Amino acid sequence: MDVLNVHHNFFATQKTKDIAFRKAALRRLQKEIVAREDEICDALYADFKKPRFETLAAETQFVLAEIKTQLKNIGYWSRPERVSSILANWPTADFLFPEPYGNVLLIAPWNYPFQLVFAPLAGAVAAGNTVVVKPSELTPNTSKISSEIINKVFEEGHVSIVEGGLEVSQQLLNQKWDYIFFTGSTKVGKIVYEHAAKNLTPVTLELGGKNPCIVDATANIGLSAKRIAWGKFLNAGQTCIASDYILVHHKVKSRFIEALKKHIEASFGDVAVPSEHLARIINQKNYQRLKSLLEDQNVIYGGITIDQENYISPTIIDEPTLESPLMQDEIFGPILPIIGYETEEEIERYVSHYEKPLATYVFSRKKSFQKKILTKYSFGGGAINDTVIQITNKKLPFGGVGASGVGGYHGKSSFDTFSNKKGIIKKANWLDVPLRYPPYKVPDFILKRFKHLF
Ligand code: NAD
Repeated sequence: MDVLNVHHNFFATQKTKDIAFRKAALRRLQKEIVAREDEICDALYADFKKPRFETLAAETQFVLAEIKTQLKNIGYWSRPERVSSILANWPTADFLFPEPYGNVLLIAPWNYPFQLVFAPLAGAVAAGNTVVVKPSELTPNTSKISSEIINKVFEEGHVSIVEGGLEVSQQLLNQKWDYIFFTGSTKVGKIVYEHAAKNLTPVTLELGGKNPCIVDATANIGLSAKRIAWGKFLNAGQTCIASDYILVHHKVKSRFIEALKKHIEASFGDVAVPSEHLARIINQKNYQRLKSLLEDQNVIYGGITIDQENYISPTIIDEPTLESPLMQDEIFGPILPIIGYETEEEIERYVSHYEKPLATYVFSRKKSFQKKILTKYSFGGGAINDTVIQITNKKLPFGGVGASGVGGYHGKSSFDTFSNKKGIIKKANWLDVPLRYPPYKVPDFILKRFKHLF
C-alpha cells in the first residue's frame, strides 16, 4: 500500500482530531530532539560543515521553540473562535471552527535541512494533520537522522518520511494531497504550484529572491556592517533571507566597506584559511556555480576558493553591473555585491528591477527614510537596522509575496496555515422571524434599509 493510502486510513480513524493525541506526539518529538541534539549537530557538520553554534541556534533550538509554542497554545487555538453575530440572523452564536486539512505533503530544501522539516511539521501536527515529509537529497546525514526521529516518534500513517530526489518528489506531487507545504527555489515552486492546481490543493510556497539591503548616509556604519556581515555569512550565505546585495550611499560607501572587512576578519580570521565558524557550499554543483559568478568581477575582498573543500571565502564585489551573471538570480552563497547610490531613484532602479523579494533591509537613523522603504516596496518581511532576525519572532508570519512565495507560517500562523476554518452559525429555535419566507411581503422602503441589519 502506498504511503498516501496509509495516511488516508490513519486520518480516517479521527485520532488526530484529539488534542491530547497531538500534544503527546509533539512531546515525544520534543524529547527525541533534545536527546539527539548532539547527533543532529554532527549530521549537519557531516553534510556541509555547518558550525555547531549555527545548528543549535538556527535548527534544533529554533525547532524546539516552535514545538513549545504549539504545545502551549494548541488547546486555545483549536477551540471554536466566537465572532460577533449580526442583527439580521438574531438570535445566533457565530464562530470559526478549525479543522485539519487532512494529509499534508511537506517538501524541504537542504540549506536549513532540520529546521525546514521540523518547524512546519510541528504546526501541521498541532493542527491535526498527517504529514509525509520529503527532505532534500543533498543532506543525506540530516535526512537519515530526521528519518530515525520521525519513525521512532510517530505512529505509522501519522507522520512518514520518504527520502529521495526529484523523481520521488514528482511521484509524490502526482498524488492528491489535502495540503502541500513547499520550501525551495522559485523555479521548483512553480512546478509544485502547477501540480497542486490540478487538484485545487491549497499550498504554502516558501521561496527565494534577491533581497536588497539599503544603507543610507545616516546609518551607524560600524554596527550596520557588523549586522549585515553576520546575516550574510551565516550558513555561508546559503540563507533565503540573507542580504543578496547592498545599496549604500556614496558618502559612506568606503567607510562601510572597511567596516565590513574588519568584521569579516574578526569573525573568520584570515579568509585564505577555511574557518570552522563558516559552513561550506553544499555540493560541487553549487560551488562551481558560485565560483563562476566571481569571473570578470571587481573582487575587492576575499574571492578565495578551494575546490576539494567546496570553500568560498567571504567575498566582497564592488559595483557589479545589473547585466552581469552575479546580478541575475539569487546568489545564495558568501558573495556580497556592493553598489553605491546617490539618489533614491537609483535605489528604485535596482529594487524594482527584480521580482518581489523574500526580505528587505534598511539601515538608517532617519525614520522618514525607513518608512519610505517599507511603504514603497513589496517584500515578504524584513528588518530595520538589522538583518535576518525577523524569522525569530513566532508572532511574525514568515513568508514571501509574489515570486518569493505564497502564505506564511510560524507560531499561530502555522496553526492557521494548516487549518481550514469553517464559518458556522448556530441558530436558536425559540424565535423565527417570518420576513425571509415567500410569499414576500416586506415593502421596498424597509428592504432598502436591510444593510443596517448586517
Ligand atoms: P530546490 O527547489 O532545488 O529543492 C527543494 C526541494 O524540491 C528538494 O526536496 C528537492 O528534492 C525538490 N525538487 C527539486 N527539483 C524538483 C522538481 N523538478 N520537481 C519536484 N521537486 C523537486 O531548492 P534547494 O536548492 O534545496 O534550496 C534552495 C532554495 O530554497 C533557494 O532558492 C532558497 O531561497 C529557498 N529557500 C527558501 C526558504 C523560505 O523559507 N522561503 C527557506 C530556505 C530556502
